[in-house]
Amino acid sequence: MIYLDNNATSPLLPEVLEAMLPCFMEAFGNPSSIHNCGRRALAHIKEARQQVAALLGCRTTEIIFTSGGTEGDNLALKGMIRPGDHLIVSAIEHSAILSSAAWLAKQGCEVTRVVVNGNGQVEPSSIRAAIRPNTRLISVMTANNETGVLQPVEEIGRIAAEADVWFHTDAVQAAGKVPLFVDRIGCDLLTISGHKFHGPQGTGALFVRAGTPLRPLLHGGHQEKHLRPGTENVPGIVGFGRACQIARAALSNGVMENIGALRDRLEAVLVSLIPDARINGKGVPRVPNTTNILFEQVSGDALVMALDDLGVEVSRGSACSAGAADPSNVLTAMGLTGAQARSSLRFSLGKQNTLEETDAATAVVVDAVAKLREKSAMFWTA
Ligand code: PLP
Repeated sequence: MIYLDNNATSPLLPEVLEAMLPCFMEAFGNPSSIHNCGRRALAHIKEARQQVAALLGCRTTEIIFTSGGTEGDNLALKGMIRPGDHLIVSAIEHSAILSSAAWLAKQGCEVTRVVVNGNGQVEPSSIRAAIRPNTRLISVMTANNETGVLQPVEEIGRIAAEADVWFHTDAVQAAGKVPLFVDRIGCDLLTISGHKFHGPQGTGALFVRAGTPLRPLLHGGHQEKHLRPGTENVPGIVGFGRACQIARAALSNGVMENIGALRDRLEAVLVSLIPDARINGKGVPRVPNTTNILFEQVSGDALVMALDDLGVEVSRGSACSAGAADPSNVLTAMGLTGAQARSSLRFSLGKQNTLEETDAATAVVVDAVAKLREKSAMFWTA
């Protein structure tokens, strides 16, 4: 199988597994225990916290370990917003943000969903225009999960600071793919998730800038400064930390550049060989591993299934809404029709993918699209 769905989840790197293994059998202690076994587990967590903080350019005291992107996003929004507050989100956020915002609206907070332009980018001027006297938080993602389009988060960070509004960014699909520095972005809160960059599933972190008045969703012990109580997932945190360390290196040792070159080649060949194939979000900066391509007159679901049968795994969009009959809210927000959104596929590459794989996958896609179009032409002329 050729796996090109790394934005849904990515395979664990062997180095990550190696770092995790001692935490199951040797340093298995509870990090809150004061005996030797507990202290060894705590030392592992301390090292992981340094690795995560180094990836984000923040202090170790500003990292709260979570179970991943969904929890980080929920904690950021529900921990900051109270009834009567106004929250600004973009229309292309992940369901972890949009569903949290919808829940908060039911609790009595005001929510504005800011639209995006045809390239799938939020216009900073729309964010500025949406700010009200009671706006407490702006949440705009760093990179979109379906198109890979990077959002102007640095500019939005400046707008939020000028207006004295807190700023959260969901950087789940940006972490490890582009450099992320919380001070450059100017965010107060930032979410990342381990399994999107070859770390373990069920791990992640929320960056919380010192002084941000975040309240916990769970109550219990003192762990993670009371913001995320409960005995730590030590093996998961250790694997997550190691994945952050490897991801940071990949930004400067040519690994991400190589992934970008494979993505560029894959999309260039597909667009040149398949009539009416179009890249959604081309022309604006994107993360290097993702491409979202519209194949007019082809059912995206049929194409995903045909490719699966032929050994190529891709998706139509977010794994959280896969199988949903509704067209992607991200693509329709960019101006695609429902039919066009349903005819678009996401290809997302990871560190394990090779040139041989992407070339083989390209040939399979060209063939599968032609066959599906032939079939539907026969259907319409029959
Ligand atoms: N935010 C974005 C942009 C995502 O792409 C995802 C996962 O697809 C999430 C949040 C949720 O992350 P997790 O699967 O770690 O809960």
